[in-house]
Amino acid sequence: MRVHLVNPSDVSFGTGVITPRWLYVLAAATPQSYGDPAIVDETLERLRPETIEPGDIVGIGIHTANALRGLEVGRIARERGAWVVFGGIHATLYPSEAHEIGGAHAVVKGDGDIVWAAALADCMKGTPQAVYEGGRLAADRFQPARWDLMPPKAYMWASVQTVRGCPKHCSFCSVWRTDGQEPRQRPSDAVIGEIVQLRRMGFRFIALADDNFYPVTLEDIELAEKQNDAHRLADLRRLRAERFEFMEQLSELPADMIFFTQITMEAAEDPAFLDAMRKARIKGALVGVEAVTPEGLKSVFKDFNLSGDQLVDRLRVFKQFGVHVLGSFIFGLSTDRAETFEATATLAKKAGLTFAQFVTMTPFPGTVDFQRWEKAQGEGTKINGVSVTRYWLIPGHLRPKLYTPHPTMSPDEIRSRTQKVWDDYYKLSAIWQRADCVKALKSRLAFVLISKLYRQMYANTGIATDSARRSNANRWVRRIAPLCRKLFQAKPMPELQMPRREERPAFAILGQ
Ligand code: SF4
Repeated sequence: MRVHLVNPSDVSFGTGVITPRWLYVLAAATPQSYGDPAIVDETLERLRPETIEPGDIVGIGIHTANALRGLEVGRIARERGAWVVFGGIHATLYPSEAHEIGGAHAVVKGDGDIVWAAALADCMKGTPQAVYEGGRLAADRFQPARWDLMPPKAYMWASVQTVRGCPKHCSFCSVWRTDGQEPRQRPSDAVIGEIVQLRRMGFRFIALADDNFYPVTLEDIELAEKQNDAHRLADLRRLRAERFEFMEQLSELPADMIFFTQITMEAAEDPAFLDAMRKARIKGALVGVEAVTPEGLKSVFKDFNLSGDQLVDRLRVFKQFGVHVLGSFIFGLSTDRAETFEATATLAKKAGLTFAQFVTMTPFPGTVDFQRWEKAQGEGTKINGVSVTRYWLIPGHLRPKLYTPHPTMSPDEIRSRTQKVWDDYYKLSAIWQRADCVKALKSRLAFVLISKLYRQMYANTGIATDSARRSNANRWVRRIAPLCRKLFQAKPMPELQMPRREERPAFAILGQ
């Protein structure tokens, strides 16, 4: 009997950008008595069904984007006589889908770190429960990943997680509803331990794959002070102090290490935090800008973001502290007009963003937007016998490119204008200009290569409707990705030790 863990994907590039962390976390959650799980990441290579034997246990983690392939993998595994267990955000939201269409014997809802072992034991006895409630675990119970099982030379960047949950409530995002609004922050030693292990293996680029790396704002602290809420104030200050402590520990790791994360724009109001990020070598951050107008921001419940010139200024602050911004924008909001596309592209340039992504409005299950949209659809259109409100079950090539009706633009107009913004932003001359964020010629060339790779992976395989364009992009990525991976690789440091806590100086924390 063997345990298999499968990360489903329709496209395999041979090389991955970021390690799918959940595979290695569940591998760590698999008791030793089952042996090392067989890990299959289909973003690298497709699953070989013949590796699954009757009586094996197959764990499949799905989110909405890979659900259809995941359900197919479940059926394949069940046909081969395996026990099939689904997990991940999509299975948590739609457990019956995994049972009815994906051949599941069991579904793990919520955090799988602890309950996975119970699901395995029940499968071994032949009596799996239909559903296991993993809930939201306290941060000190998160499992560290089994990086020793990662295939060599497969990924560009490794990933660790420092916090789950986000106190915000953006209407297009499911994180605050599924992971909760109370930030669950891991003890920093556990995270640093994983990073040390990864640097020993030769990873020097690490993604801090958090929902929101800035879970406590200065405004939150001020508000708790005004409300005389001593308990909340103590909690917020503790969380903030732990963030600083973690960044201090990062700064003591080898000087060639580089980190990047995901953060809200409010961090730009907090020079002490940005300074700590600079010292910690957190050199990149995905910032959800979403929209450039106040009306657009209001429509997605993100009016804590700024707009116009204030937005440009705020985004520029990150760069002053050495943090390069990957700005994320959404097109297709009801407030968007034809001129919004050009205005967004201009703002991205003016704000000095290093990278940008332009996604089209998609109602994802678990979000407020999805609820509203599903209600408005009623019976709705059916494609291939499937309601459009279950669009992830429609084969990819038949799926509409946009789901939300727009008051003034057709889906095709939104899609083609979005594609044009990608094309302009990632044309060679524009990339070369942005490449001045690095000095050496070799680094500038690497920047160009990575920008092109990013664009091919996310724009041409995602929003492009033209299948020739998609398959060209796939071929291009397969050729270029191994080269990019080499650029990110470092010489392994097998002797590297944890930074020694007692040697760290005391530091002041603003807001305490
Ligand atoms: S989009 Fe970002 S800030 Fe908004 S709820 Fe999700 S994780 Fe939080």
